[in-house]
Amino acid sequence: MFRMGQEEVEAVRRVVESGELFRVNNALQEADKFEKEWRETIGTDYAILLSSGTGALISALAGLGVGPGDEVIVPGYTFMASASAVLAVGAIPVLAEINETMTLDPADVEKKISKHTKGIIPVHICGYPADLDSICAIAKKHNLFVLEDACQADGGSYKGKRLGSIGDAGAFSFNHWKLLSAGEGGALVTNNRKVYERALIYHDGGAAFRPYTGDLTEPIFMGTQMRSSDIMGAIMRVQLTRMDGIIDDLRRVKAAMKERLAGCDLYKFAPSNDEAGDLGTTLPLQFHDAATARRFADAVNDRIKGTLVADSGKHIYYNWTPLMEHRGSHCDATNPYMLPQNQGLNMEYSDDMLPVTVDLVNRTYHVLLHCDWTEQDIENNAKMVLTICDEIR
Ligand SMILES: *Cc1c(COP(=O)(O)O)cnc(C)c1O
Repeated sequence: MFRMGQEEVEAVRRVVESGELFRVNNALQEADKFEKEWRETIGTDYAILLSSGTGALISALAGLGVGPGDEVIVPGYTFMASASAVLAVGAIPVLAEINETMTLDPADVEKKISKHTKGIIPVHICGYPADLDSICAIAKKHNLFVLEDACQADGGSYKGKRLGSIGDAGAFSFNHWKLLSAGEGGALVTNNRKVYERALIYHDGGAAFRPYTGDLTEPIFMGTQMRSSDIMGAIMRVQLTRMDGIIDDLRRVKAAMKERLAGCDLYKFAPSNDEAGDLGTTLPLQFHDAATARRFADAVNDRIKGTLVADSGKHIYYNWTPLMEHRGSHCDATNPYMLPQNQGLNMEYSDDMLPVTVDLVNRTYHVLLHCDWTEQDIENNAKMVLTICDEIR
């Protein structure tokens, strides 16, 4: 969450005073209005506001028809939800390497494709756009879907198109740590009517009783309950009005930081698949070796707790314990790793299975930026990075 204020308070007050916090058949229709505004902003035919980014990924996978017997390729560097969403629909996440951009490596994706592969989930981690041209070309060649995990990239873009609108579907998160926030929340987008209808049905446990059922051509099946409230819709509508301003300011701060931090011989900036589309939330310093990156991170942590944070470790695959230990569900009978349909699929995980990813993560430090930094903040933070580099040299 970057900016929030009185406008959100007013929006919530309106919904509470209306007495209709449930999003269906109410007077204000805040969630419906947000969905319209979001799909117009992202540039897709359909959007669904729902309870979380994880829920958006799971609903999209359900919409895409993924299930037991399917493999889905996911990068080994992301938040675990990119992989756990695949397990939630009964399929197996196959982990692939990232490259220097810190996003999914298309060359390794090609190596991980098998006759069971159904799709690819590129993740725009830290707002860095994934290499969508290459990934979409591979997907097309092998007849796979592309589900963009844009949960850390609300509003970012790739070659002039908003992230999330380029693959077959896209997922966004509005939890506390994301660019836009309602505390919790998420959205999915797609241009595919069938995927939309199936995701709509899946995310709304009461789909059979909704006014929209008459418009559906897909048969209604049992799903779960991930609906948004109208309060979430109201907050997100205000958040959306702030989005482009936040991104402009983040990009300005990032450019200013890069200018000041260029030329230090201890690191380089991680390359980008589209610098102009980058969200600007973080600046990746790629050190030449892991030991130097470690010394840098320790020195930053000694100085200021929490301002320029390094990765806490939860985004690297070997720390996703339930996945690594094949506990893919709450009981054995529904555990995707134990399902008969999944035997013979690629589910061997080990700590050292993605050496390139481990090396890159160990030597890349993501400087956390803020859209409200003043010139003085930029000056001070840049100076601190350079001072620490001199100290650890
Ligand atoms: C935050 C995040 C999610 C999940 O979002 P929630 O809203 O917390 O469920 C999924 N993928 C990535 C890459 C994320 O950063």
